[in-house]
Amino acid sequence: MRAGILTIGDELINGFTVDTNAVWLSQALLSRGVSVAIKASVGDETGAIEAILDQWDGEYDWVITTGGLGPTHDDITKSAFCNYFDSEIRFDEGYWQKLVERFKGRGHTIPDNNRSQAEIPTKAEFIANPVGTAPGLKFISKSTTFIVLPGVPREMKAIMTDHVLPDLEGQAPIAWLTLHTAGIFESALAMKLEPLLAKLGGIQLAYLPSYRGVDLRLRSLATGEQGRSKVASAAGEIEAFLGERVYGRDGDTLASVVGQLLLARRETVALAESCSGGVTASDMTDVPGSSAYFKGGVVAYSDAAKVSQLGVNPATLETHGAVSEATARELAEGARIAFDATWGVATTGIAGPSGGSEEKPVGLVYLAVAGPDGTITREARLVADRLPHKSATAHAALNLLRLELLGHGH
Ligand code: ATP
Repeated sequence: MRAGILTIGDELINGFTVDTNAVWLSQALLSRGVSVAIKASVGDETGAIEAILDQWDGEYDWVITTGGLGPTHDDITKSAFCNYFDSEIRFDEGYWQKLVERFKGRGHTIPDNNRSQAEIPTKAEFIANPVGTAPGLKFISKSTTFIVLPGVPREMKAIMTDHVLPDLEGQAPIAWLTLHTAGIFESALAMKLEPLLAKLGGIQLAYLPSYRGVDLRLRSLATGEQGRSKVASAAGEIEAFLGERVYGRDGDTLASVVGQLLLARRETVALAESCSGGVTASDMTDVPGSSAYFKGGVVAYSDAAKVSQLGVNPATLETHGAVSEATARELAEGARIAFDATWGVATTGIAGPSGGSEEKPVGLVYLAVAGPDGTITREARLVADRLPHKSATAHAALNLLRLELLGHGH
């Protein structure tokens, strides 16, 4: 089973919209054992869509398209399919009345240009849209099934989930699993894993580096249950080999893993953030149920805030500067006391682009974790680019706390 994904819209070609539909569709298809062999994006142009249909028809078992179906697009996609399949249009009065009622139910009169959504090509099957007005369409040629979906991600996903993916169940799915690592570079990781990989036959491994660590994506060459168990045992071996460098699998985040550790110990944490500007608190509060262990945080950006909110000694700032190990230490201890938490975590660094010096370059950061047995600090040189720096700092701070909680921080 091989599929092609075609996303349609000028905004995708011009870079104003990130093509999340293609990403979601690939994952959904892959999890049902359908390999995505090709992806393309075209602008709102009938000729460009027809050219792709011509190339892909007969080449792939499934072709999924998104976008260009709504009333604001003059039904570019529908026109292209009608041209390609030499199809007439029929007006579906029953569907139109449903749309009229739906709008009425919300206290609106349906705009006239919505009529196009009840115009169904005679050679297509209608696929109901559970959350919107543009239905999906299904065209079948000799050996290819074309599924035509609206561009709005929520509508596209609802139609796929309710009406398309169930038809694909039963294929032997491709097994894959992601391991998340922290605190080790891609090259060092690759060198370390080389001998182990040679032993893990039938597994493909991709290294996916980001400012927040390196993800390892494992894929089995076998499908179905056999593939799943191969991937699971390979993941287990890699985890055992890399130890604490692996912090989680698939949907885990560093914040969720730290949260689980805190919950298990019935402990709490508070934050004192300078250069990370609240990103650490944002990460923590992304996790449902975090109120059980996250007490709060202060974004202490100015020297005055560090002193007044977290009790940093003005002499420490005077002698060592705001970006220093000594200040990080006092920030973490101050947060722990201010919020009456088991742990206090602090970040202070130079996010740039200005403010760096030879002695303290842009990217430099000091982290501290204060806990029941004292305070530890770390100096790190992270990315010298403002937004990634904030994100990488938050990640490094959470990782330091994780290692402390695991008892390996000293
Ligand atoms: P409508 O015209 O009714 O809004 P449509 O099917 O014509 O629906 P588009 O107009 O192409 O769809 O897109 C609707 C919305 O969905 C826009 O906000 C667009 O940015 C977003 N969108 C479209 N395609 C994608 C995509 N591939 N990935 C993420 N978002 C998308």
